[in-house]
Amino acid sequence: MSLLSDVTEVRVPRQVLTDGYESMRLAGKLGLEGMVLWAGQQEGTLFQVTQLIVPKQRGLRTADGLCAVVDGDELARLNVHLYRNSLDLVAQIHTHPGAAYHSETDDKFAIATTIGCFSIVVPSFAVRDFPLAECAVYRLDDAGAWNEVDESESPNRIVVV
Ligand SMILES: [Zn+2]
Repeated sequence: MSLLSDVTEVRVPRQVLTDGYESMRLAGKLGLEGMVLWAGQQEGTLFQVTQLIVPKQRGLRTADGLCAVVDGDELARLNVHLYRNSLDLVAQIHTHPGAAYHSETDDKFAIATTIGCFSIVVPSFAVRDFPLAECAVYRLDDAGAWNEVDESESPNRIVVV
């Protein structure tokens, strides 16, 4: 069995990317961060995204800024959905009001927590369909740290197809 950390290329359909942006853009119009997930199947070193998941979420304004929160019952429902459909999560994507970077809160409260999964932060509430090169892309290493990676090349390549 291969591990998510073996993946060197993620293929995501353009529709999944843009539908996700659209969903997060709506949250942004309310002044809130939005979050979506990519799920699909791994074949060796290739991960094919097949599904966009928009979890039920609450947008919070806290002293530290904004945050999209997914409650425990929704997380449980999500896990059942993934299991029943033989899907794995490969990435979580969320928006920031301004600059794209992984905040301390993002590190602590990530939903996709499997070693090897990606976290993509989209700037400016995804007001437009930003190319991934303008987003901040991170990947969880086997020590549990999120490192910024270059999604344009292997072993962290993300290809929009
Ligand atoms: Zn964030």
